[in-house]
Amino acid sequence: MFRALVLEKEGDAAVAQVRELDESALPVGDVTVAVEYSTLNYKDGLALSANGGGIVRAWPHVAGIDFAGTVEASSDSRYKPGDKVVLTGWRVGEVHWGGYAQKARVKADWLVPLPGGLTTRQAMAVGTAGFTAMLAVLALEDHGLTPAKGEVLVTGAAGGVGSVAVAILAGLGYQVAAVTGRPETEAYLRDLGASRIVARSDLAETVKRPLEAETWAGCVDAVGGAMLARVLGQMKYGGSVAAVGLAGGASLPASVIPFLLRGVNLLGIDSVSKPYADRMRAWERLVTDLPMAKLEAMVKPAVLSDLPALGAAILKGEVQGRVVVDVN
Ligand code: NDP
Repeated sequence: MFRALVLEKEGDAAVAQVRELDESALPVGDVTVAVEYSTLNYKDGLALSANGGGIVRAWPHVAGIDFAGTVEASSDSRYKPGDKVVLTGWRVGEVHWGGYAQKARVKADWLVPLPGGLTTRQAMAVGTAGFTAMLAVLALEDHGLTPAKGEVLVTGAAGGVGSVAVAILAGLGYQVAAVTGRPETEAYLRDLGASRIVARSDLAETVKRPLEAETWAGCVDAVGGAMLARVLGQMKYGGSVAAVGLAGGASLPASVIPFLLRGVNLLGIDSVSKPYADRMRAWERLVTDLPMAKLEAMVKPAVLSDLPALGAAILKGEVQGRVVVDVN
């Protein structure tokens, strides 16, 4: 038997309850993992909301798009009992049962070995949000960003993706400007390494002039929508924006002028289906480039029964940093 946060559908609502399940309830898969920690991402907030936020298709369901733990059983030669593993993405926690449980069973292809130097708790403090922040920084570097090129903007900075992006970039020697709608997070963001705080309201207006002053050499954007459109017009010549999220909206009311006159690059970042080699590259860089003391400063500890309330809070943009869920 194991404990899980089970989502049941009652009308349009999804009711979450911590329940004891038999191992026979687990989905099919090659590797059974004793989960130690999971976490909370924006998508988990969706899965825990009414109708599974449109990403859960079948009930009962176990959400949790990330987990880290120890292999209990494996029919795949890449993993053996006792191995420490991490899972992010692959629609686990959406169409496949996820990490809000003491046990999970998944395809071996979806796992990576726990990166050397990290604990399972630290891996979940990173989670999909932090892993994606690293993918965004890698994409910016691959398109020529260096600290000498100028300031880098991070939007949605006090959230999960934003907090990790600020800490990584500052650790690499970048000048980081952090956009937040929560002025009370200024001290937190400065401790993570932000050298400038930009009020969300400064970037809230929709594009009026397609080009504004050349301000940012790069941007990690967790917000999308009108803010992303506005930022495109403020990029320096040849600068790149890594489009990660849609916390502020999925539409893009933008002009193509920044692409045509300033050679601005808009880089799409997907964490869900990233090939194995790219995942390993990102985790290796997280080990070397994310200061662990800063990661710890982002962590809010939680247990399974806290998740329904935390899921609602993350959708309202009220969660600061990274939630780490001790499932045991
Ligand atoms: P969080 O809720 O932790 O962070 C989002 C932040 O965005 C908030 O903390 C807030 O920051 C800001 N924000 C919220 N609402 C608005 C708004 N209406 N307008 C402007 N800013 C807003 O979520 P995550 O960091 O986990 O995820 C961020 C986004 O990235 C989500 O859209 C998520 O779906 C996406 N994502 C995409 C991935 C991919 O593979 N592409 C992987 C992981 C996440 P502040 O208070 O500082 O303003």
